[in-house]
Amino acid sequence: MEKILNREEGRFLADRIAKEADVKLYECYQCGKCSAGCPMAGSFDLMPRQIVHLMHLGDMDSVMKSKSIWLCASCHTCVERCPHDIDIPTLMEKSRMEAQKRGICAVRNVKLFNDIFTETIRGFGKSQEVILEGAYNVTSGRLLQDMANVPAMLQKEIVRPELNSVKDRDHIRDIMNKCEKGGAVR
Ligand code: SF4
Ligand code: SF4
Repeated sequence: MEKILNREEGRFLADRIAKEADVKLYECYQCGKCSAGCPMAGSFDLMPRQIVHLMHLGDMDSVMKSKSIWLCASCHTCVERCPHDIDIPTLMEKSRMEAQKRGICAVRNVKLFNDIFTETIRGFGKSQEVILEGAYNVTSGRLLQDMANVPAMLQKEIVRPELNSVKDRDHIRDIMNKCEKGGAVR
């Protein structure tokens, strides 16, 4: 597998991410309580416990190439269960941003969904379910995904067919531009 960072660079990056997340990686004693409670563990290729361990070793290549950083739901169950309050979702998020900067993405459809979501916010100032779902299904090639649920969702007004936007869309775009200048990755 192609190396992205050497060991020194990996250590440096892991330390920086841990510092930004206010996490002391050495405090993890690999008890596994985080992994045992993670609702996404069944879809992960690396368990939360392993992400922390690999970062402690400075192996950011493995972390950035993992599916887990894209599938983490940021639910914070792991943080609640951890005896040291290790903020795994922030480690995941910052690792995902670093992977994205280097063009690494182990789960393309998550990035695709994020990109479409961000563009609808940029365009309308709020989420537009119809555009989000339609554009995602077309671009991901999953044309019929969730289509069977649409009539019930419309009937219960979970999604609305009409498009609407906030009054001050420029203000929302300004906020998003500032986030990107501050390091958020598109
Ligand atoms: S629960 Fe906390 S201490 Fe235990 S393995 Fe997970 S991160 Fe490490
Ligand atoms: S925040 Fe992410 S890693 Fe932690 S329990 Fe939730 S899905 Fe799992």
